[in-house]
Amino acid sequence: LAGLYVHIPFCVSKCSYCDFYSTASLGLIDNFIHALSKEICFKSEIQDLRKPETIYFGGGTPSVLTISQIEEILNLLAKNFDINNVKEISFEANPENLSLEYLKGLKSIGVNRISIGIQSLRDDTLKYLRRRHNSRKALESVMNAEKAGFENICADLIYGISNLNSFKWGEDLETVFKLPVKHLSAYHLSVEQNTLLFRQVQKKQYSVTDEEHSREQFFALNNISEKYGFKHYEISNLALSGYQSLHNSAYWDEKPYLGFGPSAHSYYANTRTWNVGKLNEYISKIKNNQKFFEQENLKTEHRFNEYLLKRLRTSNGIKYSDLQHLFGDRLLEYFKDRVSGIAPHLYRPDNQHLTLNLSGWFISDYIISELMI
Ligand code: SF4
Repeated sequence: LAGLYVHIPFCVSKCSYCDFYSTASLGLIDNFIHALSKEICFKSEIQDLRKPETIYFGGGTPSVLTISQIEEILNLLAKNFDINNVKEISFEANPENLSLEYLKGLKSIGVNRISIGIQSLRDDTLKYLRRRHNSRKALESVMNAEKAGFENICADLIYGISNLNSFKWGEDLETVFKLPVKHLSAYHLSVEQNTLLFRQVQKKQYSVTDEEHSREQFFALNNISEKYGFKHYEISNLALSGYQSLHNSAYWDEKPYLGFGPSAHSYYANTRTWNVGKLNEYISKIKNNQKFFEQENLKTEHRFNEYLLKRLRTSNGIKYSDLQHLFGDRLLEYFKDRVSGIAPHLYRPDNQHLTLNLSGWFISDYIISELMI
């Protein structure tokens, strides 16, 4: 199950917590699509990925593109790859762009999964995070998606925000689960360098949520989602049966993928490549036939560490026989030895797998770092 990822590097303004590269220069969209077309054509030669099964538009803000621009990109993919087996075309969008007409347009060109960046249902929080929508618009965008015929609707939320106490978080979750949403991605707010939020923390204008509240909200996410029939299948992702993200699941399962656009990563044949990050550089390098990406052949140790990092975040965890098959007896023995040092209340008792439980997930960064080579 291979996937194609298209990175749309445009955002009209910058959210306070975001450290992804994006530009507000929407005048460059045509040049971007032109460069993208050359990259798509160039990478279509890679044999492992000739028949993708998922396509994912991420960003940035893909919904700043017009329907005809998105259709143009889909046509480029269809011209260069065999997309007859594609089961899922996902599209990340911000609520302020999701009119009924726009959503119907997305549906008509084949997008079948919409991921809406709601982030919060509190106007004060949205304003604080410098999002461009309010809670009314967020709710309206989900209802519009349903009216436009989308069945597979995903909502993105952020928790661990200091003015969002656990009671309000629980209330917001109840509201979201009553919407026609089949998938929820919920991320803890993190303070990244080079963001407005980071500077606010330094100036003591924002205080980070303490661990006790973070833990309370993470456990509430799990409890409330179960009540509505959602499965917590990855630390930050929950879905009703049959609605797990195929694209992201393939990524967690170490399947190959190709990324297009500035800063997009690709992974195939034990090789990772990553494109130049800045849009101007991406456009000019492709235009002048210069190398626009770096690449690295992943050593066994590197692949082993990445495998742990991805798999232990999922509810399937790591199957010992898979680990042995992929990395051999020596690394299996190393792994088992490291696991014996982890406190038993952090994982499920099972002789065939290592699967972290909720307490383990909550401190998974620490556990995984203990297990890595
Ligand atoms: S819309 Fe998304 S990508 Fe753009 S600045 Fe906000 S969080 Fe970052």
